[in-house]
Amino acid sequence: MVDFDYVKPATLAEALALLRADPEAKPLSGGQTLIPTLKQRLARPSLLVDLQALPELRGIEVSDTHVSVGAMTRHAETASHSGIAAAIPVLTHLASGIAHPQVRHVGTMGGSIANNDPAADYPAALVGLGAEVQTTERVIPADEFFTGLYSTALTHGELVLRICFPRPLRAGYCKMPNLASGYVTTGCFIAETAPGVVRVAVNGAGPCVFRHREMEAALSADFSPTALRTCTQSAEGLNADLHATAAYRAQLVLVAARRALDMALRTPI
Ligand SMILES: Cc1cc2nc3c(=O)[nH]c(=O)nc-3n(C[C@H](O)[C@H](O)[C@H](O)COP(=O)(O)OP(=O)(O)OC[C@H]3O[C@@H](n4cnc5c(N)ncnc54)[C@H](O)[C@@H]3O)c2cc1C
Repeated sequence: MVDFDYVKPATLAEALALLRADPEAKPLSGGQTLIPTLKQRLARPSLLVDLQALPELRGIEVSDTHVSVGAMTRHAETASHSGIAAAIPVLTHLASGIAHPQVRHVGTMGGSIANNDPAADYPAALVGLGAEVQTTERVIPADEFFTGLYSTALTHGELVLRICFPRPLRAGYCKMPNLASGYVTTGCFIAETAPGVVRVAVNGAGPCVFRHREMEAALSADFSPTALRTCTQSAEGLNADLHATAAYRAQLVLVAARRALDMALRTPI
């Protein structure tokens, strides 16, 4: 039996004080990763600080230029929000493809990005759209937030409050899912963020989401399938596990990119 305390603070100040006072304390959002991790004895926190009651981490705001999503927003809320669907339809598509309904109704955007599983979907959206993560301490650009396998720029006691996505001109996402879990084997997110400015983020393939600079340069010059024909992906450094070899993942990057581009071209916003 893992022995730990549980607190559900009513204010953000109380939550931060609890986390900062105890180096072994951990925040709890939906528990979709943290609870299984406890059950497997992979984490042994002394205290779980439940974030459910904190209004600062909730709410979705849509403006002419941005979509701001509270950290405690569940995937199902993101998937069904009409304002998000109108502003950044690819986010609706991505969120509705996460796992299955049970996970989507409990898992949160903040928990997903703080966990930074290489097989998670949201990191590709944040990096692909050039989002910013607002924490209790600062604003972190997505390019600097995801630092490696299951690691982020967050420090102990620092909470994700909101994620702010700029609205792209058009964008697409394709993931090759693990058919049992829904997690990403390899995925690609492509966004034209301004005329002639394209961002390409690859998830699932490597230890951490990464930008594909060769595709970005090619698509910034010519936002069409022709531009992708000469782009390459090395297998070096990519993940290899029972689901896919590194060489297979490298091939999937190119296939996912073509499909993500196809979606971007079909659904201009
Ligand atoms: C069967 C299954 C299938 C899944 N399939 C997919 C999939 O296809 N695609 C996908 O992207 N994901 C998938 N997931 C992951 C799921 O989407 C959850 O988002 C993810 O597990 C994180 O869970 P959570 O939001 O409940 O966070 P928790 O488990 O509560 O927390 C996760 C981590 O983040 C920390 N944390 C939580 N909130 C904050 C915060 N606001 N600030 C700082 N740190 C915080 C916690 O301390 C913990 O370390 C799957 C999960 C399961 C169980």
